[in-house]
Amino acid sequence: MSAPDNEPSFRESVDLMFNRAVALMDLSPGLEEKIRVCNSTYTVRFGVRLRGGIQTFTGYRSVHSEHVEPVKGGIRFSLGVSQDEVEALAALMTFKCALVETPFGGSKGGLCIDPRQYDAEEMERITRRFAYELAKRDLIDPAQNVPAPDMGTGEREMAWIADQYRRMNTSDINAAACVTGKPINAGGIQGRTEATGRGVQYALREFFRHSEDVQKAGMEGSLDGKKVIVQGLGNVGYHAAKFVSEEDGAKVVGIIEHDGALVDHDGLDVEAVRGWIAKHGGVQGYADAEYVEDGGKVLEEECHILIPAALEGVINQGNADNIKANLIIEAANGPVTFGADDILRKKGVVIIPDMYANAGGVTVSYFEWVKNLSHIRFGRMQRRQEEARHQLLVDELERISRDSSINWTLSPGFKDKYLKGAGELELVRSGLDDTMRQSYQAMRQVWLDRDDVEDLRTAAYIVAIGRVALSYQSKGL
Ligand code: NAD
Repeated sequence: MSAPDNEPSFRESVDLMFNRAVALMDLSPGLEEKIRVCNSTYTVRFGVRLRGGIQTFTGYRSVHSEHVEPVKGGIRFSLGVSQDEVEALAALMTFKCALVETPFGGSKGGLCIDPRQYDAEEMERITRRFAYELAKRDLIDPAQNVPAPDMGTGEREMAWIADQYRRMNTSDINAAACVTGKPINAGGIQGRTEATGRGVQYALREFFRHSEDVQKAGMEGSLDGKKVIVQGLGNVGYHAAKFVSEEDGAKVVGIIEHDGALVDHDGLDVEAVRGWIAKHGGVQGYADAEYVEDGGKVLEEECHILIPAALEGVINQGNADNIKANLIIEAANGPVTFGADDILRKKGVVIIPDMYANAGGVTVSYFEWVKNLSHIRFGRMQRRQEEARHQLLVDELERISRDSSINWTLSPGFKDKYLKGAGELELVRSGLDDTMRQSYQAMRQVWLDRDDVEDLRTAAYIVAIGRVALSYQSKGL
């Protein structure tokens, strides 16, 4: 799985993908350069008193583009965090937000740390200190820069960050909107934790609605019965694998984790594997499947759909030729390098690009930010009124049925489903589904209409860069 020496870095890969798209567009060279570059990166080194000594940590917050503010992007906690990585991820955020029409510029942050080495109290002190460093420079701010979870962070860290910001800005009535991905009790929104995985499911459903696209990937039919391999059973990979297997009939035949992989051609029980990992820290020792020590090799197993949902660069020039999947959906950011992308395209593998595939997170983050700014939960005003109107209709239908000579009844279950007004979770899922469908169609239109666009990734970049360019042009640039 390790990348050959001539493999471009993650940031170089993003730049090369950007260049491939702009070569097919009609932008002035000056505007092209303005959109490509990362506006700023702030590096912070701070000390925290821990275990009787002082430990120094390094963190980053990059702002790729401020054509719309606030800028948006997750905070990653990992030993692999570097300026290059954070800048690549910030650029992807700019294009992702433009593609799915969330009104944000692109940003990303990271802290070089292995969170597994620290207990909860230590993590809280480190996270709060990092948040303090960023907030005092407006790199956390509801109107300017709004972080979210990413690899190694989740609700817990977002709650600490929100609280830290509030302590520093006691009179800011919109303080809760300074970060998204918070727990419900701290101003979060229903459906945010599952959002990125849910978005992957909605993206796959939309792909399978277009038989022409399915045929391009050498498949037919629906998601039902399709064999899936997922890499990384963390937040994104777990929810994606769970939803497509439990709700769409797909079969998860391989799960790759940091300590190896599990394979079962009859289908793995995603919930059981997740439970095992939570208890034992990895997949090793799980009894109901074949264990493969060299997990990366399982990326090369036969399957219809490969869902890389862990790290960047895992499909590279070293293994791209051996990939047998018909379709790769990039749930992680940057899992396929520029070189591998070329090899896979020539092999006829269809790739649903990261910029679109994992946009469910930022989409629901947008809903959370709007909820925080409006200070009211979605559905609170209309739910019961909607239910009352539906009740009226059902009562009337039942009265007609009683009074008429025709003997008819409502289908079983209809009444319960119809009478239930939409709460926050239903509205969030509906908004996410709409976003994933619309964005796929925008990307697909370019893919189908233009002979010079061979793949969905280039199409996605063209749509996104076009929107960013329009935004800069309307500002007079
Ligand atoms: P996470 O930390 O919850 O999960 C990552 C998983 O990958 C963990 O289970 C970890 O054990 C596993 N892993 C680590 N090294 C591995 C290896 N070498 N091989 C296989 N598995 C390995 O992170 P996440 O939030 O699920 O993020 C995963 C990816 O999705 C990242 O690229 C992130 O940028 C992207 N993403 C996340 C979100 C979000 O809302 N969390 C949104 C958009 C994109």
